[in-house]
Formats: sequence, C-alpha cells, structure tokens
Amino acid sequence: MKHIDGSQGEGGGQILRTALALSMITGEPFRIENIRAGRKKPGLMRQHLTCVQAAKSISSAEVRGDKIGSQELEFVPHTVRGGEYHFSVGTAGSTSLVFQAVLPALILASKPSTLTLEGGTHNPLAPPFSFIEKSFAPILQRMGPRLEMTIERFGFFPAGGGKVSIHIEPKKTLKPIDLLERGKLCLQLGESFLSHIDINIAERELNTIRKKMSFAASELKTRQVKNSPGPGNLVAITLEYEHVTEVFIGFGEKGVPAETVATRACQYAKEYLRSDAPVGPYLADQLLLPFALAGSGSFKTVKPNLHCTTNMDIIKMFLDVDLKITKEKDFLYRVDVV
Ligand code: AMP
Repeated sequence: MKHIDGSQGEGGGQILRTALALSMITGEPFRIENIRAGRKKPGLMRQHLTCVQAAKSISSAEVRGDKIGSQELEFVPHTVRGGEYHFSVGTAGSTSLVFQAVLPALILASKPSTLTLEGGTHNPLAPPFSFIEKSFAPILQRMGPRLEMTIERFGFFPAGGGKVSIHIEPKKTLKPIDLLERGKLCLQLGESFLSHIDINIAERELNTIRKKMSFAASELKTRQVKNSPGPGNLVAITLEYEHVTEVFIGFGEKGVPAETVATRACQYAKEYLRSDAPVGPYLADQLLLPFALAGSGSFKTVKPNLHCTTNMDIIKMFLDVDLKITKEKDFLYRVDVV
C-alpha cells in the first residue's frame, strides 16, 4: 500500500485525483493523509468526495474515510470496468474534476464507457468543459483513445446544474507523442458566454478583448446560453494552432467589472504568447499523466509551476518513469518522460 502525504507540494485536490487514477490503473492501493491540507477548507469537499465515489464505482474499490471533511482516505481498487456511469456532484462542484479522476482508468479499460456528469461545467480553479473539449481531448486522442463530448447544460459557478456526457473508446496502451511546437496559427477567437445576464456585459467584454488582443470583429462572438439554471458569465480566448489549441478563461464574478473579467483572460493569453511553448500551464499538468502512461514522449511548456511538479511527484510514486524538466530559455521548458 502506498502512503501519500496530501500536504506535500501544492497540497491540493490534484494529489488525490492522480492517486485515484493511478491506483485504479496499477491496482496498487493507497492511503492518503492530510488531504488538501494546503487549501483554506482542507479535507474532502463535495467534488472530491464525488471523485472518490466515482473511482470506487468504476473499480469496485474498498474505501475507508469517504465522507465530507475527511482528511484521511484508504482506497483499495479491484478491476476497472468500462460501462455506463452517472455521477452527480450535487452542488456547483466541478464535473471536470470527476472526469479527471476517472478518465485515465477508463481510456485503458477493456470496453467503452459513457459518463454522464452533473454539476458545474465552468468553475474557477478547475478545467472548464470548453478547455477539456478543445485543448486537452484532441491531444489525448492523438495517443489512441477516442472521446466524444457533449454539453447538454452549462453549469456556471455558483448555481451549477450543468450536465455533460462523454463517450470513451479505450485503447489497451497509449501511443507516445511529442508536442514540441505550436505550428501555424489557424484561428483566434474571443467569446463571451452569458446566462441570465445583460447582453451589455458581453459587449464590454468583447470590446476589451478587441482592444487588448487586436482581434477583428469576426473573431469576437457573443454566446447566449439558454438552458443553464443559474446566472453566469465567462470570457474564453481560444488560440488554435496546427498542433495545439489553448483556451484562456476569465470568470465573471459578482462585483467584478466586465472589463476586468476580459482583461484576466487577455493576460493569460498574452503570457502564453510571450513564450513559444505549445503547452500552457494548465494543459501541462493535465498532460503529465497520459504522457507518463505512454511511457515516453516530450512536450514544451512554460515554466512548470508547483501544481505541475507536485503532480509529477505523485505520478512517480505509482509509475516507473522519470519526468525530466529542462529549461531551454526564458519562458520555455521541456518535459521528457524517461
Ligand atoms: P487542484 O487545484 O489541485 O484541485 O487542481 C485544479 C485542476 O484544474 C488542475 O488540473 C488545473 O490544471 C485545472 N485548472 C484550473 N484552472 C484552469 C483553467 N483556467 N483552465 C484549465 N484548467 C484549469
């Protein structure tokens, strides 16, 4: 049984999700203490508990400590079974984080799966659905598995109530790939998503993107979301290159001016554009696990953050791989799976 200190490195929920995913794949049980000790409200929150319950359900695991607030958990997986699964986070808790916990095991399962997830689809501090769909999933597909993703209802923070479904065609092994260059820019797009919010907010957000990113009018779109239960707003800047697509998000918040929301997304996009790296900071930590499972492969990214290096440490506890970071120049780093 592996013993994991959940307070190490960044001390967040990623440690738990990576441990769940790799425990199911390797069959190695684990015990984790100090879960999310680095967060304001430590322990299992609703969305982390749903990750544990989802992992338990797909691998018929024996679990101890699976309750709200718990800072200790023991997880003993059995066989992972592909199939039809429905998990609801209940609140606006992120569906993407549940997806992140169970996906690695399901892409390697012996039969296909369909996941229906209910909760938040576009939450701060989690990968928004649009990011997974446009940025993460296409790269994973190059490694072999097929994903079909649909969003039936948007779930914005804090009301939630979203619904997504993901069909997964697994592969026995993942094909190693290299992601070393962006290739040429194919499309740039600034979008303002609105649900039960005045259209004037979108106009101000898109105007801010136009000024800060010099996008043409045809590259700016208002997306009025009709079937989300709660109010919500976000700005997404998509940069689609030949070999990679990145999506930068500014989350609308009560009391934060529309211009600030859009400016945040522009800042993330500009930081990315300052580097030549194909892989941005979030995509980097999300690609580590599939790249490590493939057993080799390399990508270039911006400076790996603590979230990324913590994830590497957990991966190395379960898999016999080394993840090497080399600085190539300012704002450009290379990650090699060895
Ligand atoms: P944690 O904070 O440990 O629960 O992990 C958060 C997860 O959400 C990580 O996989 C991050 O890469 C991801 N994430 C957070 N914010 C974004 C964002 N704006 N775009 C894409 N992924 C994100």
